[in-house]
Amino acid sequence: MSRKKIILLSVLGTLLALIAAGSVFVGFTIAKAPSLDLTDVVPDGYLTSILDDEGNTIDTLAGVEANRVYVTLDQVPDDLKHAFIAIEDERFYRHKGIDLIGVSRALVEGITTFHFSQGASTITQQLIKNNVLTSWTEEQTFLDKVERKIQEQYLALRLERIRSKDWVLENYLNTINLGGGTWGVQAASMRYFGKSVSELTLSESAVLAAVTKSPAGFDPLNHPEANNERMTAVLDNMLAQEYISQEAYDAALADNVYERIAQTHTDRKVHALSWFEDALLNSVTEDLMTQHGYTEDEAWDAVYRGGLTIKSTQNTDLQRICEEEVNNDALYSGDQQVSVVITNGSDGSVMAIVGGRGTKDSSLVYNRAVESMRQAGSTIKIIGEYAAALDSGRITLGTVLDDEPYAYSDGTPIQNAGNYMGKTTLRGAIAWSSNIVALKVYQDVGGEAVLAGLKKFGISTLDQKDVVEPLAIGGSYHGVTNLEMTAAYNSLCAGGTYTRPYFYTEVVDHDGKVLLSREPESSRAVKAETAFLLTRAMMSVFDYGTGITAAFEGLPIAGKTGTTNDNKDVWTIGYCPYFTCGVWGGFDDNSAQSDTDYVKILWKNIMKRGTSDYIYREFEVPEDITTATICTKCGNLAVEGLCDSTVQGDMTRTEYFVSGTAPTKKCKCHTEVRVCKDSGMKAGPYCPYESVETRVYLKEATPGTSDEKYLAPSFGSETCTEHTSLLEKMFGGDDDRSGFWGDDKETEESDEGKTPGNENGSRDDSREPDPYNTDPYGGVWDFFFGP
Ligand SMILES: [Zn+2]
Ligand SMILES: [Zn+2]
Repeated sequence: MSRKKIILLSVLGTLLALIAAGSVFVGFTIAKAPSLDLTDVVPDGYLTSILDDEGNTIDTLAGVEANRVYVTLDQVPDDLKHAFIAIEDERFYRHKGIDLIGVSRALVEGITTFHFSQGASTITQQLIKNNVLTSWTEEQTFLDKVERKIQEQYLALRLERIRSKDWVLENYLNTINLGGGTWGVQAASMRYFGKSVSELTLSESAVLAAVTKSPAGFDPLNHPEANNERMTAVLDNMLAQEYISQEAYDAALADNVYERIAQTHTDRKVHALSWFEDALLNSVTEDLMTQHGYTEDEAWDAVYRGGLTIKSTQNTDLQRICEEEVNNDALYSGDQQVSVVITNGSDGSVMAIVGGRGTKDSSLVYNRAVESMRQAGSTIKIIGEYAAALDSGRITLGTVLDDEPYAYSDGTPIQNAGNYMGKTTLRGAIAWSSNIVALKVYQDVGGEAVLAGLKKFGISTLDQKDVVEPLAIGGSYHGVTNLEMTAAYNSLCAGGTYTRPYFYTEVVDHDGKVLLSREPESSRAVKAETAFLLTRAMMSVFDYGTGITAAFEGLPIAGKTGTTNDNKDVWTIGYCPYFTCGVWGGFDDNSAQSDTDYVKILWKNIMKRGTSDYIYREFEVPEDITTATICTKCGNLAVEGLCDSTVQGDMTRTEYFVSGTAPTKKCKCHTEVRVCKDSGMKAGPYCPYESVETRVYLKEATPGTSDEKYLAPSFGSETCTEHTSLLEKMFGGDDDRSGFWGDDKETEESDEGKTPGNENGSRDDSREPDPYNTDPYGGVWDFFFGP
């Protein structure tokens, strides 16, 4: 054997031994490779999107490394796919997972320069590396690297046997780190360009493809020059690989894309969750726990890292209006707090919610609209005793009760916020918020029925120990929340159907699977007719009652005001045919307030702006409703020429009734008296024709009420003493005198028609003045502002 041969053999032997050793090493390494679980290849930790009621994205949530939004390949522009392929893996569509040509080149390059680059990794390998072999960042030795590389290639080959190129590319594009805490092309597109990946141009696509080589070093926001260099290489490759034309190439290079990136960044604000989002996410996590058995941590993890799409019920316009109006500081005299809720009349969803004044600079904070339990005041009357009494047919809107000095069963006098107005219909009692009538109706219905009714309206904070008479005017142990009160009133807006308030319709996971679905939970609170009657009665609150300050031109509105002792709590809850708005105002420490109007004004400001885009519509009238013109002082049918021309004014009203409940008898409370204007006495036979007037008075009046002023005078048998003979009649009544005595003809309406007892509609009504009483509203209205 020649020396040459021996050398050759030994070299061959060494080579064989090396190959054998290498094979054993490769085999051993492959055996150590993790198994290929497809769920591992798919990226996790996605950005969660919150959509509003029109499907617009209103916010995105990102936990640590969760800044990721999944897109499917059909949403990715060709330029973007090609940009990545051109720079990262030009033979992507031709290789089977590993790029042998690339590997050979890298090997030759490595042997000749002793520098082994990562360059030969295919897109498939990079996907495996990022999602399966995630420990590569901890590699210590060269051998670790080689080992990982072998596993990577092995798994890449296996993956491509079971998954298509498109599948690989889609998962890759959703996986890659694109700098600035963004993972995946969609999140990066949002971060750098403020738009969806589907809208990216060629230059923008090239910018993103340029980042991958070094997410920190080529971040286009912080390192535009470095990115630009790599981006140019991307475009060069695209041109060379004939993905783009020379014109497109030139245009992309000329585009000053980095200026736009800087601007987008300036426009983006780091912000706390909004009031709506707070409530929404609390609701989503709660449902994940109760419906899917998540722990609290798991639920919040899903929200922040699960790539969920949360389809919320927020009406973004209304939410914005509420936030702006709440923060109009000119409304407030001090540090009052407020909360606002708007619920949708058509489906019971929450459209807007504000939990307090001021800039909201942290998330998941105390929300007064949901968490504060405050006294309801007079707003309880509608959904308490009045709803129960109307629904059971005990009373009608035309039922007349006496608003008179009165006491609780234990003898404690019950206070009205103002004067006693005497006989009033239920409508009048609602408009003027009579506490007396409320208590009388409560006593008639019974506390148990009132509580049962409140439960049907979804009021969950009241229980058996609240079944005491002060509940009639809103007194309770724990109080109520704005959210529940607004939802309760929304039942009336919705024709009597209560719906538990909700903040989302659907939560979809990042695979498009429905995780949570929220069907409205609805049940009947009261009959449609009852809801309608209460609605019509509560329109009077704004027409001429306690809510006049909150009235505005536009859609019809119905609602109720409420205050509690020392105005600690002030409410206005009301609705148009489309939605319901509840406003609460007070101090956090429950101290007294002198100013209460701000709540009504806030309600008005929100409703006026909020309804301006809605088409005019009336409240729907159920079939079983009729009308009758009644005398509002006794509740019977009005008599023409009598009830409509009393000394108190026109005391008739066309009222709504459930069929069969309208009165059938005629007015019994009014009486005509012929009076001589000159003497103010009962007219006698000698009084001149032009001096005699027929006046309509009440036959009876309860002492201590405003009715006393309209009570028929008791003249006894005596008639006019001024006109005692025919002679007097012929010569006495000359022109001068009639001018003097004619003084009483027209006294102008005082001002805004703050006249309790008159239910004749709008405050602009010109009512008959009271010729009998020169001060027809005698000190009534000025202190009759009540709950
Ligand atoms: Zn009458
Ligand atoms: Zn006379």
